[in-house]
Amino acid sequence: MYQDTEILVVGLGAMGSAALYHLARQDAAPIGIDQYPVGHTHGSSHGHSRVFRIFYNNAVYVNLVKAALPLWQELETLSGEQLLTRNGMLTFAEPGNERLDQNIRIMQATKTPYEVLTAEEVTARFPALQLPADSVICYTPDSGFLNASRCVRTHVAQAERFGATVHSGMRVHHIEANKEHPEVETSAGNYRCRRLIISPGPWASQLLTNLSLPLRVTRQQKFYFQPQDGGALYQPDRLPVYGDYDRGYYGFPYYGPGIKVADDGHGPVTSPKTVDRELDLNVRNALAQWLGTIMPGVNPSFVEGATCMYTLTPDHDFLIGHHPLNSNIFVAAGFSGHGFKFSTIVGKILAELATDGKTDYPIDKFRLNRFG
Ligand SMILES: Cc1cc2nc3c(=O)[nH]c(=O)nc-3n(C[C@H](O)[C@H](O)[C@H](O)COP(=O)(O)OP(=O)(O)OC[C@H]3O[C@@H](n4cnc5c(N)ncnc54)[C@H](O)[C@@H]3O)c2cc1C
Repeated sequence: MYQDTEILVVGLGAMGSAALYHLARQDAAPIGIDQYPVGHTHGSSHGHSRVFRIFYNNAVYVNLVKAALPLWQELETLSGEQLLTRNGMLTFAEPGNERLDQNIRIMQATKTPYEVLTAEEVTARFPALQLPADSVICYTPDSGFLNASRCVRTHVAQAERFGATVHSGMRVHHIEANKEHPEVETSAGNYRCRRLIISPGPWASQLLTNLSLPLRVTRQQKFYFQPQDGGALYQPDRLPVYGDYDRGYYGFPYYGPGIKVADDGHGPVTSPKTVDRELDLNVRNALAQWLGTIMPGVNPSFVEGATCMYTLTPDHDFLIGHHPLNSNIFVAAGFSGHGFKFSTIVGKILAELATDGKTDYPIDKFRLNRFG
């Protein structure tokens, strides 16, 4: 027995929750399914913060961040929730870092506000920070950070308010993609739908077996530290987000349980089923040491850490678009450790694809069949 439905969204993490919201805003009355409760901590979208970075090496991403900004602000207005803190981002490296230089060229080319600062100017403006004297440092004032779990919960709550139905604790066992109207078999009933959006995060390879997507899931960990002096210098109004492009380390101001830092370098390959959630103390200690070198007064004491997963494509660009075997199915996957900031615009793109069959946003770069 199949329940016939118009539009179904499978996976309500960052991307699926946003798709559900934008569909509901279009009065599409979508149904959303997730194997876990909304806002759970098993996937890739939980926690207090994700960088809202405009500093990219490609204009497609810069323009998508710019398009996402008013959507985040609209969601804040509708819900009354504070989601985005725009306190800027400082990115730094030793002279000659090609990635940093390329990003600065793209800031110029896209007319995105940025400033190149000296280490002295950084300390004058943000007294907690003392970056190496010869660093190349770029400040992008429109960057900042999003409260990740709150964004997911807010997208879902607003989707429900505009007519979406949510089934959490419902696991999808099988998707029959070869039928014009795809069929979805779950732990609590089966659906036949006219349009299907699949946004499975690190479970993509399990749910989309027939596509043999070249995805790699890695274990990533983030760590929170308390500064010794209580933290006035480290609050978001006195300290931006910061990223070290030589080491791949990055961090946030004091928000939630403390100052969060993480290594953007890829951790061990894993899977949602086997991921080891025990904290790697070597990574924690290296991050604490790094924090001490760029913030000499911080003297960080460890508070807590958490485990999350990246789902990487070979080129680190996303997978967004039609399912190669069925033009009524749309996939969003492979967000390669930098997808969160885009989630609301990805949701809008998915909603447009599902309702109009097309979108004006430039998603060719993200097509699913680009790896042959
Ligand atoms: C440590 C870390 C730091 C990051 N930092 C940043 C950052 O600073 N800035 C940034 O922009 N991005 C960042 N990212 C990346 C960003 O968080 C992810 O790209 C994004 O959250 C991915 O969302 P998703 O919806 O694809 O996956 P998920 O949030 O994992 O959602 C997938 C959902 O699908 C559901 N699902 C899967 N299979 C089934 C099934 N069979 N049945 C039912 N439900 C199913 C899952 O339960 C899950 O809820 C970071 C990621 C990590 C791990």
